[in-house]
Amino acid sequence: MTMVHSVTIPRSILPSDGRFGSGPSKIRVDQMRTLFEAGTDLMGTSHRQPPIKHLVASIQEGLHDLFSLPDGYEVVLGNGGASAFWDIVSCCLVRQRAACGSYGSFSGSFATTMAAAPFIDDPAIYESRPGTYRLPEYMDAVDAYCWAHNETSTGVAAPVRRVAGSAEQGALTIIDATSGAAALPVDITQTDAYYCSPQKALGSDGGLWIAMLSPAAIERADIIQREANEAGSARWIPRFLSLQLAINNSRKHQTLNTPAIATLIMLERQVRWLNDKGGLTWSTARCTQSAETLYSWATRSDFAAPFVTDPDARSHAVVTIDLDDAIDANEIVAALAANGIRDTFGYRKLGRNQLRVGVFPSVEPGDVEALTHCIDYVVEHR
Ligand SMILES: *Cc1c(COP(=O)(O)O)cnc(C)c1O
Repeated sequence: MTMVHSVTIPRSILPSDGRFGSGPSKIRVDQMRTLFEAGTDLMGTSHRQPPIKHLVASIQEGLHDLFSLPDGYEVVLGNGGASAFWDIVSCCLVRQRAACGSYGSFSGSFATTMAAAPFIDDPAIYESRPGTYRLPEYMDAVDAYCWAHNETSTGVAAPVRRVAGSAEQGALTIIDATSGAAALPVDITQTDAYYCSPQKALGSDGGLWIAMLSPAAIERADIIQREANEAGSARWIPRFLSLQLAINNSRKHQTLNTPAIATLIMLERQVRWLNDKGGLTWSTARCTQSAETLYSWATRSDFAAPFVTDPDARSHAVVTIDLDDAIDANEIVAALAANGIRDTFGYRKLGRNQLRVGVFPSVEPGDVEALTHCIDYVVEHR
């Protein structure tokens, strides 16, 4: 076996920053500096006092602008990340039954979470094989349609538009945007809950969930909470998973319990950076450029090919590249890591001979170009 990781990539072709993870993802140096400089005043202070509440309010206003939220939509946040929000959906947003798109590890886990909740019916699951997507379809007696904007495990992006007839039926559209938010275009009016964790496309650190909620979703949370509070209700809403409590706290620019203040500081800086640069138009164009660099390189390469065959389903946030069987992706990933190029491995459970690259807004398109040269170099010199 060749010892690929002994390959030394010339400094002149290395990217300026070697972080290409799909989550946790690159946090820009500017955010780290803000944490150090502005953070000395904020870290280790009460999240119920004005300085941190101002920080949270700035994040909420910034996301309001970034996603052009329509009147009545609110930015709500809490602890526990997108995984916690899955449980919140089952406890607080699904009345009776959800219909779910399932086409990879994350969208699949969401569907499993709905199936596990004892007080709602088993979800209708619309499944398709990894590398493709399938949206839920209209069904009677469904009150929530759910899927992932970007399936992080496979590098597939799905459209975000309401299922025909769903609004008339009073159903909510609930979108997991963890690796899509700020990287992929979205029309928020097509959603009732567009939620994410900040450590992927949004480029901060983990631990939080953030949800853009429509008036319909806020009303649903209120109704379900009141029903759950009635004696004899089969539904149990743990306080930690109460969307109603999260909404009330978010209106006061707080979280139910103590948040990671460092995550908030770096998120606030990132949202301001995204808006200053030109908002969603700018960030999605930047991600498109980075993703196209990789897809066109792979298409031209004689040892690589995009995993997702339908060009319209190829993500501009997480790019997956299959390698020829003669080249062991694990060895390439190890050789890159030995040269400071981090986290280019495929999703473990997908089990393919694959590279996976996070091309979120924080990543420089020039560094993505450099990455392609580095992969070529490692393959040639192994
Ligand atoms: C990573 C990820 C999650 C889980 O996020 P956590 O912050 O780890 O809970 C959920 N959905 C998608 C699409 C993800 O990529």
